[in-house]
Amino acid sequence: CGIVAYVGEKEAYPIIISGLQKLEYRGYDSAGIALLNGGLNIYKKKGKVKELAELLEKEKEYLHSNIGIGHTRWATHGEPNDTNAHPHYSANKNMAIIHNGIIENYAALKQDLMSKGYKFRSDTDSEVFINLIEHIKNHEQCSLDEAVRLAMTQVVGAYAIVIISKEDSTQLVAARKGSPLVVGVGEGEYFLASDATPIVEHTKKVIYLNDQEIVVIRNGKLQIRTIEDLPITPYIQTLDLEL
Ligand code: GLU
Repeated sequence: CGIVAYVGEKEAYPIIISGLQKLEYRGYDSAGIALLNGGLNIYKKKGKVKELAELLEKEKEYLHSNIGIGHTRWATHGEPNDTNAHPHYSANKNMAIIHNGIIENYAALKQDLMSKGYKFRSDTDSEVFINLIEHIKNHEQCSLDEAVRLAMTQVVGAYAIVIISKEDSTQLVAARKGSPLVVGVGEGEYFLASDATPIVEHTKKVIYLNDQEIVVIRNGKLQIRTIEDLPITPYIQTLDLEL
């Protein structure tokens, strides 16, 4: 339902929590965050963003990170509970995904991955997506963004996704098809969100991602390409709305 992500030089956790609060108007049943703080750690819970923040208040000293992803979930596949809340790890726990939307062919993809030995922790369609990406990445020995692109050719449905991985703490990979996704371009920092509301207080420069596009932010640089592997020149707009 709601997506916020950050990479830059600031503390990611407060930016993401306050961003999730700005997306609450969309409605949701659970909330969660993943940070690269030593390891790749996921904190998630059924209930309000405030409850998640209160729970994490005690752990604040461990939450230092310059990169993270956050999600508010409106359940479509699997009941609202702590396990089905996003983010979701891939099987090897090397990466984590947040996902808005629905994967229509998730059952067939899940069956196929299970036959290859993949085990699932949740009932969500989203966990199928990240394991498909992990499988392709291992099988093709390709980059994460290339694995996302190849996975998109197999996945049927509507989605906006953001992924972080242990392999690179400067990297966010995101993609969309049928669900909105906005990139905020700051000074040496980037934001990703399902709409501009969590971004405008940080930067007015935004890129609205088009359908079937993949964006990779790595070492402070942003690249966009299509599902057909064609490079896109990013169109940076300046928002003039006041919030
Ligand atoms: N289909 C996913 C789920 O049920 C994502 C739902 C959403 O857009 O929040 O977990």
